[in-house]
Amino acid sequence: MAVTADLEQAAAEAALEKEMNPWEAQAARFEFAAKKLDLDAGIWKVLSQPNREIIVHFPVMMDDGRIEVFTGYRVQHSMARGPAKGGIRYAPDVSLDEVRALASWMTWKCAVVNIPFGGAKGGVICDPKKMSQGELERLTRRYTAEMIDVFGPEKDVPAPDVNTNEQTMAWIMDTYSMHMRQTVTSVVTGKPINIGGSRGRSAATGRGVSVACDQALQYLNMKPADCRVVVQGFGNVGSNAALLLREKGYKVIGIAEWDGGLYNADGINIPALVEHRKKNGSIRNFSGASEANSEELLTAECEILIPAAHENVITSRNAGAVKAKILVEGANGPTTPAADDILEKNGVFVVPDILANAGGVTASYFEWVQDRMGYFWTEDEVNDRLDRLMTQSFSDVIRYAEAHGVNNRIAAYMLAIDRVAYTTKQRGIYA
Ligand code: GLU
Repeated sequence: MAVTADLEQAAAEAALEKEMNPWEAQAARFEFAAKKLDLDAGIWKVLSQPNREIIVHFPVMMDDGRIEVFTGYRVQHSMARGPAKGGIRYAPDVSLDEVRALASWMTWKCAVVNIPFGGAKGGVICDPKKMSQGELERLTRRYTAEMIDVFGPEKDVPAPDVNTNEQTMAWIMDTYSMHMRQTVTSVVTGKPINIGGSRGRSAATGRGVSVACDQALQYLNMKPADCRVVVQGFGNVGSNAALLLREKGYKVIGIAEWDGGLYNADGINIPALVEHRKKNGSIRNFSGASEANSEELLTAECEILIPAAHENVITSRNAGAVKAKILVEGANGPTTPAADDILEKNGVFVVPDILANAGGVTASYFEWVQDRMGYFWTEDEVNDRLDRLMTQSFSDVIRYAEAHGVNNRIAAYMLAIDRVAYTTKQRGIYA
């Protein structure tokens, strides 16, 4: 008996591990959507693999004089519609399969919002929480030097992602520029404003998430004032989304962070929480809400749930318990394909990642355009253009969902694959 139970447990764990492999998750959605589109077999083969994968192992001098060797990746999934585009993340659990999936999601995301970029992603296996600023700077500069022939304004344009920020982008821009013997601001986006960054870029992903919420409510005939929102993750995406949603009259009742959660049925004062976190380095011990279990907040009573941190937050294990009517994916890949099926059966309206969090890369596109023009827009101009593009993309996805009788995620993939396949065919295959 015990042996059977052990085997069952091992099988369940293996199944969950497969379910949580982001590249498998991407492939499952791609295949489903490609089949629905009756995609040409050749184009199918082209789009189901990344175009290029670069792995580097490089040394960094640590503060104590030790030499450490780090592993870094850059995967370019597609360059059919323009230069490869996508962030760089620093985390201990970065893997090639994860970076592959994230790169392909960038291809689909840029196509959903119809901006002229392909998709890429980078990652370095490291634990930034345990590294000094000096160590992070040396790691960033060396990684950039290793990628000197890979990056470029017309080739591949990085941006911030998990655990990287404006400062990281400034180091990348500077290192690349030193090698090129001239300042090249458009090699990277998400930079500080005084060195070629765009107004509105830092809040753009959160802003796009808030527009996605507005559009979902309009479509479902609901009102912000009647909406309780739970946000998982209070980094750049989650905090900006929460701030904007509160401004628009939504009631943000729960915030779930990695080190603890907060709950207040009357709504949390988000600007005060941002201040509290700035002072204390954590959302914990905030007087304006009670402590809550982050895992339980995902299944709390609410109208909108916004996972805004990392992959695999909604899986087959908890999807059935989600009570939200609307799921807006601020993170990349927060929901597994098995969870998708459960959410669909339960009638949850999903605004998928490649649409919901596309505000970031859209503002990156605006930054790249401004850098190349050498002429910078006002924050209102950036925000107006962003709002319009997000609204248009939302209705494009809904149009596909209604026309093909599929859920919003598959509709977004179909729209994206259609656009990339069209361009690939038009350019032809160079042999
Ligand atoms: N890392 C962000 C994303 O996943 C932004 C990418 C970019 O701006 O290039 O969409």
